[in-house]
Amino acid sequence: MGILAEAIDLKKYHSLGTGFLFSEKKGEIKAVDGVSFSIQDGETLGLVGESGCGKSTLGRTMLKLEEPDSGKIIYRGRDITHLKKNDLKWFRKEVQMIFQDPRSSLDPRMTVGDSIEEALIIHGMGNEEERAEMVEELLLKVGLETDFMTRYPHEMSGGQQQRIGIARALAVSPKLIIADEPVSALDVSVQAQILNLLSDLKSNLGLAYLFIAHNLWVIRYISDRVAIMYLGKIVELAEKKEIFENPLHPYTIALLSSLPGKKNRILLKGEVPSPVNPPQGCRFHTRCKERFNICDKIEPELREIRKGHFVMCHLYHD
Ligand code: SF4
Repeated sequence: MGILAEAIDLKKYHSLGTGFLFSEKKGEIKAVDGVSFSIQDGETLGLVGESGCGKSTLGRTMLKLEEPDSGKIIYRGRDITHLKKNDLKWFRKEVQMIFQDPRSSLDPRMTVGDSIEEALIIHGMGNEEERAEMVEELLLKVGLETDFMTRYPHEMSGGQQQRIGIARALAVSPKLIIADEPVSALDVSVQAQILNLLSDLKSNLGLAYLFIAHNLWVIRYISDRVAIMYLGKIVELAEKKEIFENPLHPYTIALLSSLPGKKNRILLKGEVPSPVNPPQGCRFHTRCKERFNICDKIEPELREIRKGHFVMCHLYHD
């Protein structure tokens, strides 16, 4: 398994706009603030954190839907950070996105067949007859009958709409799918079906996923490795088993303590600090039970503590 995609010290800030005087900046939301990780061929990297921690911005930046402010995005060994739209056509075909709300990615006036075919037309794939065959195959792949071709989005359930969203993403035979909360808008029973589908597609088609979610159960079900994000930073990253059985970062430990069956639930005190002015030193120090003298002064680095287990916390550094 080789490295498929990589982020190196990636930063993405969102401007809060200008004040009365145009030169007067109101500040910046440091949504992604120096993040590094890689995704291997055929693996699912789960990205988890509280709402507002920057995980969706990180997904959109990896897909170049948002331009990074600094750092690098490497895809299949190629630096694509500064490539412009015309040089990114091959990348747009290889990396697709699945959204939280499938309705937002489906045109209500288009039939399901036209909607999936549109994705094929955009990428210049097949003639009319071949595309009709491809649409049928894609519907079957995502577990829908071919008579769905003539239906409209409003005639379908949320789960069926998400299957169409997945079929559209699969239309161009991607290698990597960035899935941003793809099941959080669905009923619990349907969530499991969509997760099973994504998992089967991964095995059958050799897909890799960057799977973004706030729900730990979902992350545990789908991921091979897990990255924990807090206030614009990845604070812990390891194999799924290692994260769930041996979490090290105090934030991860608190998050996991909320899972059903855990005895000592750790309630995090205080609000998540603002990403406009994140705390000095370790960003988690304002809510951390373990903090000590240097935590509010020196920012820890994300370091490999054990093979493949990275933690950003002074407790584990010499
Ligand atoms: Fe807590 Fe300090 Fe570790 Fe931050 S560096 S998580 S404040 S112990």
